[in-house]
Order: sequence, then structure tokens, then C-alpha cells
Amino acid sequence: MAAQTEESDTAREQTKAEQDVDQVRQRAARDQQRLDSGAVTSPKDLENLQREIVSLAKRQGDLEDVVLEVMERREAAQERAAELTERVGSVQGRIDDATARRDAAFETIDGEIASVTKEREVIAATVPADLLKLYDKLREQQGGVGAAKLYQRTCQGCRQELAITDINDIRKAAPDTVVRCENCRRILVRTSESGL
Ligand SMILES: [Zn+2]
Repeated sequence: MAAQTEESDTAREQTKAEQDVDQVRQRAARDQQRLDSGAVTSPKDLENLQREIVSLAKRQGDLEDVVLEVMERREAAQERAAELTERVGSVQGRIDDATARRDAAFETIDGEIASVTKEREVIAATVPADLLKLYDKLREQQGGVGAAKLYQRTCQGCRQELAITDINDIRKAAPDTVVRCENCRRILVRTSESGL
């Protein structure tokens, strides 16, 4: 934006400088016309007129140098603005690309959430109501994990190895008894790898 402002500022400066040159040129042309017309006859007036024409020519040259200098600055500002505009375009392209990839990822995640939620609903419907209530309560208390696998006599919820007395109790428990970790109180899921 700063580069674009500089570009338009120098454009205005150039117009102004060109108008200055024009004014001086017109005045010199008028003087020259008067001189050529022969209307001025007094030697003193003629001399003054000629002196002014010379001085205006010098002034015009100086002002033309100003125009050239402004034009150079304007070109540099134009180049800089164009370069920055291109860079903005390239960065915007990368933003658009990342946004599209993020949106696609959101879509995938939303799809996964929907399918996992549905799966959970189906499984939850098969679990007895009081057990489900206990599980949900534990899940809330234990950072989202209400039940854990018992693996080689270790609770996979809290990673604590169970005491031998607890293991013996679990060995004796009927298959449909809900057993819990004595350490973290999570529901323990028995498998063939539980080390019982
Ligand atoms: Zn535990």
C-alpha cells in the first residue's frame, strides 16, 4: 500500500512539474511572438524582452530536469509496487491453498466424527444402563477414559501393575462381573493377554 501511495504521489508530482514547464514555455512563446511581431520598438523594451526569453529558456531547462528526476522516481515506485503486488498474489495463493487443504481436512474429520458417533451409539445400546452410567461417570472423572484393558496384570488406564491379591480376586470373578482397577477405579476389560 505504501508503494502504491508513493507511486500515485510521484504521478501527481510529475503532472505538477510538467505544468510548470508548460507555463514557462507558453510565456516564452508569447514573448517570442511579441518580439517577432515588431510591435515592440523601444530598444530598452526589446532588450528586456530578449533577456526574459533567455532567462525563461534557462528556467525551462531546469524544470525539465525536475520532470526527468520525478519520472525516474515514479518508474522506480512503479516497479516496486508491481513487484510487491506480485508477491502479495503469491502469498495469497499459498493462503488459498492452505485454506482449501484445511477445509478438506475438516470435512474428513467431520465425516469420521459422524461415523464414530454412530458406531458408539450402536455399541452403547447393547450395554446395560447402569454399567453405561458408571462408565460415563468414570470417563468424565478420568480424562475421557472410563474403561481400560488389563494387559499382563497392568491396568492400561493408569499403567499400574495390580497387586497379586487383586489379580486373584479378578481370577475368581465371573466373566460378566464388572471388575475395576483398585488404583484408578476404571473398569477393567479382561482379555486373553490379561495375564490371569
Ligand atoms: Zn488403573
